[in-house]
Amino acid sequence: MVDDRPPTHPGRHGPAPYDAVEVIRAKRDGHALSDGQIDWVVDAYTRGAVAEEQMSALLMAVFLRGMTPEETTRWTDAMIASGGRLDFTDVGRPTVDKHSTGGVGDKITLALAPLVAACGAAVPQLSGRGLGHTGGTLDKLESVPGWRATLTEAEIRHQLRDLGAVVCATTGDLAPSDRKLYALRDVTGTVESIPLIASSIMSKKIAEGTEALVLDVKVGSGAFMRKEEDARALATTMVELGSAAGVRTVAVLSAMDAPLGRTVGNALEVREAVEVLAGGGPSDVVELTLALAEEMVVAAGLAADPARLLANGQAMDVWRAMIRAQGGDPDGPLPQAAERRVVRVPADGVLAGLDAYQVGVASWRLGAGRTRRDDPVSPAAGIELHHQVGDRVRAGAPLLTLHADDPARFSRAEEALRGAVTVVPEAAAEDGRSAHARVLDRIASDD
Ligand code: URA
Repeated sequence: MVDDRPPTHPGRHGPAPYDAVEVIRAKRDGHALSDGQIDWVVDAYTRGAVAEEQMSALLMAVFLRGMTPEETTRWTDAMIASGGRLDFTDVGRPTVDKHSTGGVGDKITLALAPLVAACGAAVPQLSGRGLGHTGGTLDKLESVPGWRATLTEAEIRHQLRDLGAVVCATTGDLAPSDRKLYALRDVTGTVESIPLIASSIMSKKIAEGTEALVLDVKVGSGAFMRKEEDARALATTMVELGSAAGVRTVAVLSAMDAPLGRTVGNALEVREAVEVLAGGGPSDVVELTLALAEEMVVAAGLAADPARLLANGQAMDVWRAMIRAQGGDPDGPLPQAAERRVVRVPADGVLAGLDAYQVGVASWRLGAGRTRRDDPVSPAAGIELHHQVGDRVRAGAPLLTLHADDPARFSRAEEALRGAVTVVPEAAAEDGRSAHARVLDRIASDD
């Protein structure tokens, strides 16, 4: 669409230079929006000058028509411009962050942030809370007694300088338009749009001020992106957005058909992350942690070997210091659920599938997740997996232990698990690692 009006951020003073209905019509009819239209509509919506129903219509038009790479970049820039930007170039270490698009049992950040800090980087991991079937990193850490998610900018800076890692709540001023847009997408069926997901994630990460970024884009039943081609398109879009903003960005695609590791749920996942830091933990969690750490170390321009810093206990030292710095007790007892119920293996054979989405929903129903942004979560609720995909199993052996504070939650969780477990005769079993959280591919701007 031809639009020769100058790009502006108007509307604060004087009459609006664009009409929301015109912008909606343009996208509805498949035209690319101009820079000025995008700047205006994102800014005006954030200020409340474009109505919710108008932005709903525009989001649906974007969902159906898509956006060009140029539009997506401009939309991301407009989201960044809706708030402030942090700058950590004075912390004395190269900054590098990681973002996961969300998976079931994804506790990788917990061990990864201190590990990469032990390698010499500063990891400013400003996170949100979980919504739906995937858990949030802050919810997990809040199960550590005394740990506090909210820090001032000065505290974040000190912690990055002194320890190299901080995991805390995002400040309200970073890309505030995303909070409104995401909430609206959630109730208008417009979440699953690649330009909208990419701009939502990257606006927050770019505004956070990291110099380098590693994206873990999950693929499979427990992920946003169920198909590999969609995950690849999302990864490529985010890498382009990061690179355009001067952030060295690499994306890794990793499988999310089965839960990651052997625990799902807040305190249960913290326990497993501490096992990884202590040199143990499930092999899929260790492998993915090291793969992402290696990418982060290279992106930060460092030469350390993450496997060595995990093995020699230095990553654990940073974890303990990081928990203490935020008021937590790294030796404090983690909460335990009052009630447990065992789900048993249905038949002899090989565990060929354990559907990540269904396990995520079951854990959520046990109390580990929230439906609305302000709902409380149970720190102790969740699921322990006694077997992972590829294991030989015997009928009647424990497969899962469900943890809940209230036994009334078990039946709905068990309903969610119906059909989630696939056991095949040994002779029919394929390579058991097929559903593990292995790295599928890597996408970088120079590829
Ligand atoms: N995570 C985000 O921050 N935004 C999205 O749109 C999807 C996942």
